[in-house]
Amino acid sequence: MRLNIIPREQHCISRKHISDNALKVMSRLHAGDYQAYLVGGAVRDLLRGVPPKDFDVATDATPEQVAELFRNSRIIGRRFRIVHVRFGREIIEVTTFRGHHSAAGNHESSRRGGNRSRQSASGLLLRDNVYGTLAEDAVRRDLTVNALYYDAQTFELFDHVHGLPDLEARSIRIIGDPEKRFTEDPVRMLRVLRFAAKLDFTIEEHTAAGIPPCARLLLEIPPARLFDEFLKLFLSGFAATTFEQLLTFDLLRYLFPDTSAALREENALTLIRAAMENTDARIGNNKPVTPAFILAALLWPVAHQAFLRYGDRGDSPMVAMHAASMDTLAEANRHVSIPRRFAQPIREIWEFQLRLQRKSGRKAAELVDHRRFRAAYDFLLLREQAGEKTDGLGAFWTEVQTLSPQQRLASMSAGKGGGRRRSRTSRTRPVS
Ligand code: ATP
Ligand code: MG
Repeated sequence: MRLNIIPREQHCISRKHISDNALKVMSRLHAGDYQAYLVGGAVRDLLRGVPPKDFDVATDATPEQVAELFRNSRIIGRRFRIVHVRFGREIIEVTTFRGHHSAAGNHESSRRGGNRSRQSASGLLLRDNVYGTLAEDAVRRDLTVNALYYDAQTFELFDHVHGLPDLEARSIRIIGDPEKRFTEDPVRMLRVLRFAAKLDFTIEEHTAAGIPPCARLLLEIPPARLFDEFLKLFLSGFAATTFEQLLTFDLLRYLFPDTSAALREENALTLIRAAMENTDARIGNNKPVTPAFILAALLWPVAHQAFLRYGDRGDSPMVAMHAASMDTLAEANRHVSIPRRFAQPIREIWEFQLRLQRKSGRKAAELVDHRRFRAAYDFLLLREQAGEKTDGLGAFWTEVQTLSPQQRLASMSAGKGGGRRRSRTSRTRPVS
């Protein structure tokens, strides 16, 4: 391994752009006679001239030693123990250098006291708490561009894994042997695609070639961890390009198998792509987004097919939609666990699609005030954008929203409600 230290004159990182809290954490660790470096996404982004999302620190202090130094800290994780040091809304993540552990690693770690590392029969790392040095830590990270270290005391940059040239070449490369690293932790495959999409980098060829033979291993990842990863994949502002990467590498089937199968239908693909673009645009404009909306879109092709099946069986639309929602979510949960606080709104968005078909009466007039109306209405526009035939429902509800509550009630309880819509369709806004 080449030890590559880049002095301050040869890189563009300045302390000015590092969070004060991260600097505070590092200087306290130094004062305790520990090593401390800025690492991961923050160094990568500072080198790209982009403000980092958060600041991660790597140290040779154990989690317990870190926790002792900071009252405002908490040790979290089991598979991979780290310390969160909290300053108001900012959390600095402090990780202890990881060390080597091969087959002999278990042995070694037990010698060091404790059950620190565990691997499944297939090679999956169930626990990774064997500690080591900076050089060992570097090669245990996922991507070369994520394994650069910055010393805020000496202003030196450490690159042990060819990260800087890869950053320069805009290349996403897994550290070490791709198949071995993906086998240890299959989520790294998702991370490869996510960073390629987010940074607009190309995936280096051996890294890409390692994905197909390891893809199935994603089935071994607990659904709760896949939900965490799902949030990063689709709610970081790059959902649309990440989704295309997932399709290219055929990994969507390990997250949402039924959706992946339903994508043979062109409308389904258009709907999901539109939802992703919509979400990215909202994030770009600092508008709030919810995982429920994107999940509702991702699973709609499945739910809709189930709805039609239940309908064919003779169920009323509401009963059919309810049953279809329950089935779809239960099945999806086997792969990506969807917390109840999101499952409920997803079902409401879907069931609302039926309620929006009613154009007259007091109940219909009051729908606009329902807390789920906005999401359901946006969802209706998405369906139309994807080519679903709704007989102009979107335009109708667009217009209804321009009326005052009194006007709305008067016009909708008067009868049809659809009569006025044709003259004013020009007001309809397409979803962008
Ligand atoms: P961002 O925070 O901008 O999304 P990041 O690179 O900081 O990107 P995190 O998920 O915050 O990503 O992880 C911090 C660092 O921890 C990464 O840069 C990487 O070095 C390391 N890391 C995270 N997950 C893994 C993993 N599954 N395997 C190996 N190393 C990982
Ligand atoms: Mg980070």
